[in-house]
Amino acid sequence: MIRENILEVRRRIESACLKVKRDPAAVKLVVVSKNRSVEEIGEAFLGGITEFGENRVQEALLKYNDKRLATDDTSVKWHMVGHLQTNKVKEAVKIFDLIQSVDSPRLAEEIDKQAAKINKIQEILIEVKTSLEATKSGIKPDETIGLIKEISEFKNIKIKGLMTIAPAVGNPEEVRPYFRQLRELRNEIKPLSTILHSLSILSMGMTDDFEIAIEEGSDMLRIGRAIFEGII
Ligand SMILES: *Cc1c(COP(=O)(O)O)cnc(C)c1O
Repeated sequence: MIRENILEVRRRIESACLKVKRDPAAVKLVVVSKNRSVEEIGEAFLGGITEFGENRVQEALLKYNDKRLATDDTSVKWHMVGHLQTNKVKEAVKIFDLIQSVDSPRLAEEIDKQAAKINKIQEILIEVKTSLEATKSGIKPDETIGLIKEISEFKNIKIKGLMTIAPAVGNPEEVRPYFRQLRELRNEIKPLSTILHSLSILSMGMTDDFEIAIEEGSDMLRIGRAIFEGII
């Protein structure tokens, strides 16, 4: 079942890419495995998925350390996609390849500090609140450049781009302006890129809206339900 769902999602990613003449290989699929069992994640892995997203550090640690998942295999990558509390950062930097939800200088400073302790350069995305109703977390679009400038001095973080969560709406077409706003913001900050900070990734698009996100330039999809429950 999960294997077929993966094929179906990949097929739809491909046709969305074709529609706007984009290379499907340039759109990364991160499977959001929050609230899913180790067995389900194992099935997705056998179906070719190697990047997983979690939204709670405690839950991610259990999965990361589960022998059945053999996640010491370096081909598996873990993404933090949920709100991160500063008191969980110490554990988070040990297991996540990409922390997608950085939205304050305080959080970035703690990530830098804890990453330095284990000699790691932690890759992060800045979470932007493009819609007021979608989430409590995320920084306001007009504060994003200021945050990036402020935290780009930190030696142990590497800013890779932006993430946003679109509001849940009936018609996916309604989320297009939020995705477009994130793309425009990315284009605005791209000149701030340095050797360390590439500022190019756009993480946007979930089960209900990933095709629109692709059309608006997403290069990282975070999909949960369509993989584990199928597209309804
Ligand atoms: C749950 C979650 C997703 C996946 O959502 P689906 O609708 O299940 O595809 C993506 N991003 C974040 C931040 C999430 O919390």
